[in-house]
Amino acid sequence: MSKSEVMYGRCLCGDIEFEALVPAREYYVCHCNMCQKWSSGLHFSVKIEKLTIRADDNMNMFQSSEHAQRGFCRRCGSNVLYRNDKSKLYVVNLGLFDQRQNFTAVAEIFSDLGLCSLEGSHKRFSQKDMTKLGF
Ligand SMILES: [Zn+2]
Ligand SMILES: [Zn+2]
Repeated sequence: MSKSEVMYGRCLCGDIEFEALVPAREYYVCHCNMCQKWSSGLHFSVKIEKLTIRADDNMNMFQSSEHAQRGFCRRCGSNVLYRNDKSKLYVVNLGLFDQRQNFTAVAEIFSDLGLCSLEGSHKRFSQKDMTKLGF
């Protein structure tokens, strides 16, 4: 039985609102160099099974690497999502969810590149580990 649930969120100005099918109330913390530039340090993201965005034309997509795009709000500049075109992986930024306080950290990725780290017993994957996993 799936524990997936529908959750809602919006960007800072509210021009972008979304409905997301979330498989688990878990978030990943990414320390990669691109996320540092994009989010000023740690990047908190939630894996999504299905995403429906309202006011899609307010989303700007930026091709951040060969296989991935990042979306942000044209009006307020909030970072909204990361999409890997190769793996079809979709992640949405945790801070945009209405119920973001109820999520727990599942892993830190690219942990050895981090500007700082989080306390807790979650998993940590270094850049080398991530390369082995195909990222
Ligand atoms: Zn906005
Ligand atoms: Zn990253």
